[in-house]
Amino acid sequence: MAGVDAALGAAIDALNGATRRKDPNRLSHDARTTATPALRIIPREQHVISRKNISKAALRVLYRLNEAGYQGYLVGGAVRDLLLGGHPKDFDVATNATPDEVKKLFRNSRLIGRRFRLVHVVYGPEIIEVATFRGTGEETGEGDRHIVDGRIVRDNVWGTIEEDAIRRDFRVNALYYDISDFSVRDYVGGVQDVEDRVLHLIGDPDTRYREDPVRMLRAVRLAAKLNFRIDAAASAPFDELGPLLSDAAPARLFDESLKMFLAGHGLKSFHMLEQTGLLKYLFPATARALKRGDKALRTLIEQGLANTDARVSEGKSVTPAFLFAVLLWGEVRDLAHTLTTRGMDANAAWERAVTQVVAEQCQRVAIPRRFTLTMEEIWALQPRFEQVQRKRVFRLMAHPRFRAAFDFLLLRAAESPAIRELGQWWAHAQQLPPETLAGALSGSAPAGAPGEVVSVAATKPRKRRRRKPAGKSGHHSDPA
Ligand code: ATP
Ligand code: MG
Repeated sequence: MAGVDAALGAAIDALNGATRRKDPNRLSHDARTTATPALRIIPREQHVISRKNISKAALRVLYRLNEAGYQGYLVGGAVRDLLLGGHPKDFDVATNATPDEVKKLFRNSRLIGRRFRLVHVVYGPEIIEVATFRGTGEETGEGDRHIVDGRIVRDNVWGTIEEDAIRRDFRVNALYYDISDFSVRDYVGGVQDVEDRVLHLIGDPDTRYREDPVRMLRAVRLAAKLNFRIDAAASAPFDELGPLLSDAAPARLFDESLKMFLAGHGLKSFHMLEQTGLLKYLFPATARALKRGDKALRTLIEQGLANTDARVSEGKSVTPAFLFAVLLWGEVRDLAHTLTTRGMDANAAWERAVTQVVAEQCQRVAIPRRFTLTMEEIWALQPRFEQVQRKRVFRLMAHPRFRAAFDFLLLRAAESPAIRELGQWWAHAQQLPPETLAGALSGSAPAGAPGEVVSVAATKPRKRRRRKPAGKSGHHSDPA
């Protein structure tokens, strides 16, 4: 996961291009001062965080800052996750040293960001993000902050740790682990929230969401990931402010989507997006297709997400292409169908539907081209599963996207008994030695005839011998 300030930096980049909004003076600092920190220090013997669970690289950064006379804290998601007994993937550090001072302390470091300056300290594959405490901007310190119509577009105002704490999003994300005495510093009640398993925004929710609407998605994502509930005050503005997500940077929403759906808690994230009404801002086509009340589509999506979660927990690879194929399938399928009933040629209808749905989706969530191409291949291969003549079967099995397309076919089992049967047919077919399969398919009956399905399925499955890929790439224009 991206670290503290990469995330916030992305937020700020996103906001920079944002269109002007009404309500220009929403960002009053009153809201923030109501969250004025009352420090609670939890000494080492009263919390569970052990240095054993902190990365060596992060510890080195913290110690080095301390030795040089600066403050060094572990902060954000890492402290939260450590308190919960988890194993954070990334460790972010906050300090009172300026980026230039940090840069000087670490040879293995680089300054990054312009609108949100910070330092990356690099230890082999690990990057520790070191950010200088951000201020509230009320004082005229060094650095600059720029707010356009309530949105933070640049934030380089240095401040104190107290100020740094209250500009963070949720209380549980504003905890600081102090390397000088191993205590946890809690300025906003985050420890209590960790215990209560609840997400409270810091400050006035309305203001904080207007500053950065993606915080709404972060609420959903963290609640799903941590199995926390979202405090009522933090979810209350979703209906009114959800539309602001339309202005969020699509590249950032792509990153957020991956964190929601490919990090092991996708199904939960999906349900929460639906419950909170935010799904339609992120995946409008998915929300529309589901609204038509298609039970099979719901099953397909839920099963697809559950499978993905299972793969993640088993440490297997997952691809965004498959995820988006799952989420957008219903709309593409239905749109192609509608166009065909209006008299359009099936191929043309399919192509038009794919283009339209993908284009609409990419305006919200910038799915990189390499993923949309694979997604389109997965879809395009679907009708080819119905063609079970010998040559075609072997050609399909050798296709580089066969595995993904087959998994997708299995998900579609909920659509009809015929597709379920087709899935079973292909499952069996893959287990047969090629000669046996070829034999079973010789003198082919018409494609997909149930008798044939039975005949192959009845043949004793054996370990499948992999055929060499024929090097043929799929095309994207097959009709559904
Ligand atoms: P994850 O477990 O997904 O990494 P995280 O809370 O660590 O969750 P990051 O995106 O890594 O999320 O951000 C690290 C920290 O930066 C957060 O804990 C929070 O303190 C702060 N932060 C991130 N994004 C924002 C934001 N949009 N607004 C305010 N603070 C933010
Ligand atoms: Mg993090």
